[in-house]
Amino acid sequence: MSDDENDDKLTAGENKINICQINEMITCKICSGYLVDATTVTECLHTFCKSCIVKHLEDNINCPECEVMIHQSHPLDYIAFDRTMQDIVYKLVPSLEKDEYKRERDFYAERGMPCPKDLEEEQEEEDTKPEEEETAPEPGSTLDYHRFDEQVNLVLKSSDPEKLPELSRKFVRVSALATITHLKKFIAIKVLNMPKDDEDIFRDIDITCEGELIPKDHTLKFVYVTRWRTKDPPLHLVYSPKIKLDTENMSGKDSDIPEWKLQPKLSYDDDEDN
Ligand SMILES: [Zn+2]
Ligand SMILES: [Zn+2]
Repeated sequence: MSDDENDDKLTAGENKINICQINEMITCKICSGYLVDATTVTECLHTFCKSCIVKHLEDNINCPECEVMIHQSHPLDYIAFDRTMQDIVYKLVPSLEKDEYKRERDFYAERGMPCPKDLEEEQEEEDTKPEEEETAPEPGSTLDYHRFDEQVNLVLKSSDPEKLPELSRKFVRVSALATITHLKKFIAIKVLNMPKDDEDIFRDIDITCEGELIPKDHTLKFVYVTRWRTKDPPLHLVYSPKIKLDTENMSGKDSDIPEWKLQPKLSYDDDEDN
């Protein structure tokens, strides 16, 4: 079909929508198909199919679209599932979702395994009741450096107030340039009083969005765009003691470290060398 034919068919109100332009936005530049498991590079915000970009990064460290270096040694830690983009693809190409859903379930059913995506969905929980409190961090606090930047409104909750107390003010307004690490430090100061002899204590906090662990270098802008673009603000984030994986043992640690601090770290967390 030519562009002209498309233009004639797709006239919404007074705005002409060019299907070619839209198609380009929801197409993977690696495989030229519609995006499957849309995955976005944190550095440049270019989006590809998850399997395409993961395969590309086996032998490369650059974005296939703009060539920007994603990360010298751990590029896979700097890409993330882009739920919003995938939702857009499925809205525009409804048959794709059905086909992909069936293809994946068939794949796992043939092997007698549950589809990992079904398990993820079971874990997701709805906890989105906004409360009345609303305020910014006090002047001079970690998150106050960029008060004239673009701002993101957040709700910060504890996953388990017995282990990590709730903030006295759950609603926070921060620079869109702040990273998850900044947020961890803020939480450490507020709820753990950031002891002087343990300034690294913030590393033992994990931050999740709807059950998904968010890497430390993501900016809140990126988290918002990839996780919350189509939802009502504020962005809901949950902090917890470091999420436990039972793949490593915990010997040789000091016994006076709280139990939740002894949990093993995920590969992309703050210790690059383990
Ligand atoms: Zn692809
Ligand atoms: Zn790029």
